[in-house]
Amino acid sequence: MNTTEKYKFKSETKQLLHLMIHSLYSNKEIFIRELISNASDAIDKMRFTMLSKNINDQLPYNMCIRIKIDKKENKIIISDNGIGMTKDEIIQNLGMIANSGTKKFIQNIKNINHQDYQFIGNFGVGFYSSFIVSKKVIVITKHMDLKNEDYGIKWTSEGQGEYIIETITKKEHGTDIELYLKDTEIEFLEDWKIKNIIQKYSNHISIPIEIQQYDDKNKTLSWKQINQGQALWMRNKSEIHNKEYEEFYYSITQDKNKPLTWIHSTVEGTHEYTCLLYIPNKSTWSILDQENKNNGLKLYVKKIYIMDDANQFLPNYLRFIKGILDTNHLPLNVSREILQDDKNTNILKKSLTKRILTLIKKISTEEPEKYKVLWKEFGSMLKEGVAEDIQNQETIAGLLRFTSINHNSPEQTLSLNEYINNMNKQQEKIYFITAENYEAANTSPYLEIFRNNKIDVLLLSERIDDWMMHYLTTFKNKKFQSINKVDPDSEKLFNKISDKIKITPEKQKFLNKIQHILQENIISVRFSKRLINSPAVLIANAHAISPHMSKLFQAAGQKIPLTKYIFEINPTHPLIQKMISIQETDKINIWIQTLFDQALLSTHGTLKNPNHFIKNINQLLTD
Ligand code: ADP
Ligand code: MG
Repeated sequence: MNTTEKYKFKSETKQLLHLMIHSLYSNKEIFIRELISNASDAIDKMRFTMLSKNINDQLPYNMCIRIKIDKKENKIIISDNGIGMTKDEIIQNLGMIANSGTKKFIQNIKNINHQDYQFIGNFGVGFYSSFIVSKKVIVITKHMDLKNEDYGIKWTSEGQGEYIIETITKKEHGTDIELYLKDTEIEFLEDWKIKNIIQKYSNHISIPIEIQQYDDKNKTLSWKQINQGQALWMRNKSEIHNKEYEEFYYSITQDKNKPLTWIHSTVEGTHEYTCLLYIPNKSTWSILDQENKNNGLKLYVKKIYIMDDANQFLPNYLRFIKGILDTNHLPLNVSREILQDDKNTNILKKSLTKRILTLIKKISTEEPEKYKVLWKEFGSMLKEGVAEDIQNQETIAGLLRFTSINHNSPEQTLSLNEYINNMNKQQEKIYFITAENYEAANTSPYLEIFRNNKIDVLLLSERIDDWMMHYLTTFKNKKFQSINKVDPDSEKLFNKISDKIKITPEKQKFLNKIQHILQENIISVRFSKRLINSPAVLIANAHAISPHMSKLFQAAGQKIPLTKYIFEINPTHPLIQKMISIQETDKINIWIQTLFDQALLSTHGTLKNPNHFIKNINQLLTD
């Protein structure tokens, strides 16, 4: 029995349709890509259901997407023999805001510029693009589970405020989308035009796409396949053009920049798999991308799409990698939970990680310009890897790039290998300093003695550096040493200034005074062997937590015990010489407190009580 019911679109849908038609008009041809993508999804879903229910390993007939052009009625029909929809599903999927992505889309659509049209596929709103060119759209569908012919559904809408649903008879499962073109859009009735659009956007679709052709001579109709029709990653590498790799990248990532590079390989053996992995050119490429993560690694099992964002197969620090993984070694009905615990997952993860690191290493040695881009965009993620992936730590550390005091520029281009090659003969350790920013690192008083002795020091000033250096303790058997920590080894390297300093009773008395006044705040006080131009500096114990790190902890609301330092002062500095001669107790107290605050400020970048410091300085200036 046929029934007809009228429904109203949810209000957001109306708004969406309006926005969509007006904002995307300049890229209206994308409606074809969107409808083909839906048809391909529907066929994938059906294949998936059949195989996972073990209905039949041999699928019953040819699955394909067919396009028919009807010039008499100004109509295009896009058909698939996929899973189809039930009545409830069609109301859900085409009549209302199906997911939260739609709202985001509405909020963002005004900011989209014309090149960003690729993004619409990300928001679950692709179907509505058919209204950009159509005055009326009819969807005829039947779900694969409903065997009875009477369960067909016809959905009709003019994209205004409402749609009509009728029950009809339909023999085969699947969906036909009938587009009644607006009078202004009849250019889409040309089959060469449709072919071009499909070759541009949808060539990688692994299901055959056929178009109906009329043979003038024989007066016959026939179907002609217009796409490659094979999953790109299953094709022979040597037959794939770079352009095809790039198009495929665009289609899976919605990134409009060319990828930096990619690897495509098939690994045979017990854990056979094929992967096609891309390194993008930019870390984030769109205002719309931030919360939209659906473009990590796509998992396929036996060429059937299983899930997006299969991040179980990559370590977190390689999350910038995009692409696909196709394996025969997982069940089709695999879930994220199963993946998490599966031992195959781990084996694949290790193998993929190795492959990617090898690729990155190759770029770093063979293509320095590309590596610059990669380092700039993803360097901080590789730094995470140093801490996250202990097994590959040495490899990842070899990929790191630094700046140093010999470098005279904040640009990070120095590798650890280069640093080691340029090491001073007696030097055994790799020296580094971490600070809030490059300037602070580069002007730090700790560097004076290193500069003076021509020993290079790595200058680290990114947020993640302190944390990374906590994990990175050696490279090629060379220890890392923070130069603001106690280290008897490094002192051996320096021409000892201190040997020339005589500790007179007067000087000793001065040290005692400092010890007395600052006893709450310091471990000890001593004359410095490292200072040349600065009056004083604070040295931390070998295992002390760095100032930067303690700030991070504090920002996260954790209580950190006050770090105490060794206070080193420079007896050759005019300021210290002057201080030694001061006799009045009140006055010397202010001097010593100020000297200490100064050193603290230089180490920490901030003071607990800056006003106190300013008051003391003002007092000294007035005197
Ligand atoms: P998305 O594809 O991102 O989910 P669309 O607006 O393109 O968003 O489609 C909405 C939904 O409508 C799809 O998720 C799917 O459930 C359903 N749908 C659309 N086209 C078809 C089709 N040809 N066969 C079966 N279901 C479809
Ligand atoms: Mg879609």
